[in-house]
Amino acid sequence: MSKASVLITAGPTREKIDPVRFISNYSTGTFGYEIAKEARRRGWRVTLVSGPVCLKAPPGVRLIKVESAVEMARVVVRRMRAHDCLIMAAAVSDWRVRRPAASKIKRSDSGLTIELTENPDILREACRKKAGKVLVGFALETEDLEANAAKKLKAKGLDLVIANRLTDKANLFGDRRLDVVMIDRMGSKKALKGKTKRQLAKIILDKVSSFNI
Ligand code: C5P
Repeated sequence: MSKASVLITAGPTREKIDPVRFISNYSTGTFGYEIAKEARRRGWRVTLVSGPVCLKAPPGVRLIKVESAVEMARVVVRRMRAHDCLIMAAAVSDWRVRRPAASKIKRSDSGLTIELTENPDILREACRKKAGKVLVGFALETEDLEANAAKKLKAKGLDLVIANRLTDKANLFGDRRLDVVMIDRMGSKKALKGKTKRQLAKIILDKVSSFNI
């Protein structure tokens, strides 16, 4: 796969509540950006679709900035055709605000109820249009790590899933060493302990290269 092209998503999404507030998560984008850097190092063509983060895109990478999950979904669906592989490292918000306010919501004594609606599952949509692409997903789980990750692999039609356990002690976001389990479409599992995201990026791309695309 010497001239592979890869579409990578990274970072959180922001779901607007009103013009100054949003719902988001702690994702820093480090993992996706490390994968993008490593893919470029291998001479691959890389498009990075990124939610709002404080990182600089690696040189030679085509960066497309997005904010919400709906925007990210649109870009991924549009760009997927031109790539061999999709790596969804973004922490996509599962919900968005049903009716974001057009002006700043004023404080009141009666509290505030925000109605949420489900966001599109970008990976699942990508899988429907798969046509020979390699699809890689991440699974952040608090319990039954392997079972849930394997379920996700099947449900979303993935070729590879990287599963992380979220515990009180381990903050998975940002730059630190991780213990992950990598499960592929053949059901083979590999536990990877104490790896940096940079090391994991290499392992993930080696695995992607091993798929016949
Ligand atoms: O189902 P769950 O959110 O745990 O799946 C995580 C994987 O699915 C990640 O790879 C994430 O980028 C992707 N995802 C997505 N669209 C969503 C939510 C998650 O593509 N709406």
